[in-house]
Amino acid sequence: MLDEKIAPSYEEVIRRNPGEVEFHQAAREVLVSLGPVLAKHPELAEHKVIERICEPERQIIFRVPWQDDSGEVHINRGFRVEFNSALGPYKGGLRFHPSVYLGIVKFLGFEQIFKNALTSMPIGGGKGGSDFDPKNRSDDEVMRFCQSFMTELYRHIGEYTDVPAGDIGVGTREIGYLFGQYKRITNRYESGVLTGKGLEWGGALVRTEATGYGAVFFAEEMLKVRGQSLDGATCVVSGSGNVAIYAIEKIRALGGRVVSCSDSDGVVHDPAGIDLELLKRIKEVERGRVKDYAEQRGGATYRDGGDIWRIPCDVAFPCATQNELTAKNAAALVEGGCQAVVEGANMPTTPEAVDVLTEAKVAFGPGKAANAGGVATSALEMQQNASRDRWTFSHTEKRLSEIMTDIHDLCHRTAAEYGREGDYVAGANIAGFLRVGEAMVAQGLI
Ligand code: GLU
Repeated sequence: MLDEKIAPSYEEVIRRNPGEVEFHQAAREVLVSLGPVLAKHPELAEHKVIERICEPERQIIFRVPWQDDSGEVHINRGFRVEFNSALGPYKGGLRFHPSVYLGIVKFLGFEQIFKNALTSMPIGGGKGGSDFDPKNRSDDEVMRFCQSFMTELYRHIGEYTDVPAGDIGVGTREIGYLFGQYKRITNRYESGVLTGKGLEWGGALVRTEATGYGAVFFAEEMLKVRGQSLDGATCVVSGSGNVAIYAIEKIRALGGRVVSCSDSDGVVHDPAGIDLELLKRIKEVERGRVKDYAEQRGGATYRDGGDIWRIPCDVAFPCATQNELTAKNAAALVEGGCQAVVEGANMPTTPEAVDVLTEAKVAFGPGKAANAGGVATSALEMQQNASRDRWTFSHTEKRLSEIMTDIHDLCHRTAAEYGREGDYVAGANIAGFLRVGEAMVAQGLI
């Protein structure tokens, strides 16, 4: 329930952002945690921090015209929502997916504010993207789209202003084309303007693996509190993109067995454990589908539109997309004996599903804490770029692991301080909000 002092702020979010249902959901999810915070910190209410935090500092919407390989002209819409710069330059990824509209970009940007605050790195929150669909597009088409997108975006970003990165549909290939166009327009080799760059031209080791690895480090810390571990655990991972692949890799390294993966077409069940080399080849080299994986892997089954959450497991990692895990799915997980759900994706679990899991005492790690390893390693990439340095894989991974442990401990400690022992949603929201809110008050009415 929303605190009566906070309810009007939420009503205002709905009124000002009509139809943006994902943004409403993300805002509500944070605001429900904040009642006790205002009681303890009346100065945050006095300075209207909640009302200010819900309104982006700047929103940019632009036309992106481009030509396909046959010469046909296409028009997409580009977005960058610069949400909050209290802790540092706006930081957050770009998503290229047909479902992208302002409501998706705002939900992601809003979550990013708190996620970035939890990392303790000097980064504010922002997000962007386009309704462009890179699926089945040639490299040349993707390049032309990225060049057109950056031809507008370049004037809004910069190493001290706003630092985009990848998200769904944006990986090293897209960041390469975007960086090339930024450099060409500005005549500056400004490495720190984008993160997720290729390793030969300013990218950081571990950035590719970081979101998936980080979620698994976070899960391991959560399980440790309960006297459990991933060693010997059966895990369900949804998705088959960057986050899922490297979550699978790290779960295996820690002794767990991952028996599934999925994409928007269907679900693979592989009881012997996912063959990671095969999955990587199909997804990263051939840009194929998980159906191709099942066809080449003996013992694995594939179902179009299958329900991944019916596969019994000890720990579930939703690593695909928002609202992929519903209350019904959560009930199936509980029935299958699931002990913990850790979000690799952004907001993959619906609020009703979180209630089902909480009721059943399943440990729940919200994305803004559990998947913060990606953006934290982006901040490490910025750090390396700023000092013109290059760290080793093991050093960077150690930093990532320390950051994830710190985030876990901060969320756990904060939840306990507010009488919500074991509630990582409350811990993450309160700790993130306090960091940003206090910085906003210190910086005056901006
Ligand atoms: N898109 C990622 C996220 O959701 C990473 C953002 C970044 O590295 O800036 O946190």
